[in-house]
Amino acid sequence: TDILNIQEIRADFPILDQEINGKKLVYFDNAATTQKPTPVINAIAHYYNFDNANIHRGIHTLAERATRDFEASRTAIRDFLGASSTEEIIFTSGTTQGINLVASTYGRKFINAGDEIIISGMEHHSNIVPWQMLCEEKGIVLKVIPVSDEGELDLEAFEKLLSEKVKLVSFNHVSNSLGTINPVKTIVDLAHKFGAKVLVDGAQATSHINIDVQALDVDFYVFSAHKLYGPTGMGVLYGKKDILNAMPPYMGGGEMIKEVTFEKTTYNELPYKFEAGTPNIADVVALKTALEYTDKLGRENIAAHENMLLNYATDQLREIEGLRIIGNAKNKISVLSFVIDGIHHQDIGVLLDNQGIAVRTGHHCTQPLMQRFNILGTSRASFAVYNTTEEIDRLVAGLHKTIKMLK
Ligand code: PMP
Repeated sequence: TDILNIQEIRADFPILDQEINGKKLVYFDNAATTQKPTPVINAIAHYYNFDNANIHRGIHTLAERATRDFEASRTAIRDFLGASSTEEIIFTSGTTQGINLVASTYGRKFINAGDEIIISGMEHHSNIVPWQMLCEEKGIVLKVIPVSDEGELDLEAFEKLLSEKVKLVSFNHVSNSLGTINPVKTIVDLAHKFGAKVLVDGAQATSHINIDVQALDVDFYVFSAHKLYGPTGMGVLYGKKDILNAMPPYMGGGEMIKEVTFEKTTYNELPYKFEAGTPNIADVVALKTALEYTDKLGRENIAAHENMLLNYATDQLREIEGLRIIGNAKNKISVLSFVIDGIHHQDIGVLLDNQGIAVRTGHHCTQPLMQRFNILGTSRASFAVYNTTEEIDRLVAGLHKTIKMLK
């Protein structure tokens, strides 16, 4: 029993109404990026059609309008995350940049040789590589929370890794490969007992779960707009104000300064200290529209619909002979990763695409996690608010056809 009218919602996403290889498109690659509703597309067009100007320094009307809408988006994101101040909301190019920013500034300044950083075994490469680079540079030790067969973090093992040496714990709220929802507050509380700071990669969480950074007590939270029905190349870093204030700037340039002389430069206040250069203004503005769109639907309603789809799809995929689902956490979002005996995931992807069905195949930027499960990759169907049970029936039929052709 759906509260949402899915057919009405589908009408908001023009891209869905097309044929691929002669079949109506089924888009099941939402964990990679969600499609954009008309209001978001219109917000970008409206900005360029009517308001385009550079922000903050202009006094003419267009510059004032652009600045107003840009900063209104920051306020909307503060409320969306439950942050206490707009000073804690830094615009970035995405999750990847948010993590790199923290590694390059907080990490370089406050984490030293012999210290430890803990990540998890189910991290996206963007939450592995920046820490490895930092560890190599500074002689820091990287430790990893193991993943169970079900695809959950081993919290007992995590507790054993903790000590006063640990300066930072960084892990995802939701795994993009398994769908696992991790117990953020439990991990945060354990880490804080030892004085470690915590960064949470929320890339996969924000479209499914209500976030409250103060209740979770996270020190940093990062996400990308494009997984939340917003534009690509735009994201957010939340950080606690006192921590951000203690951090050196990331990139140098315009906007992030207070005063520049050749002898010495002083830096701007938060959040501008971390926002050098002309930002992605139209896309920042459009993220606010994406938040309004999902707020109107209600994240609980979106999650309820997606859970229904996940259960429906899981039951049906379990019936397929030789198919194994990777990631069976008790708490998961609508990501369904699977392997089929004797069939390469790439072949599955190609043959499904022939039938108009878009799934992702491969390692999903989580190679260590694939190694943990002794596989090269999976096929991954991930569902969004506009997906339907009819589309899942198409996937199931498509898989049967694929297996028949390849076996
Ligand atoms: N972390 C997770 C869990 C992700 O799913 C992704 C995107 N696949 C990222 C980080 C990176 O996001 P972006 O490419 O937008 O920076």
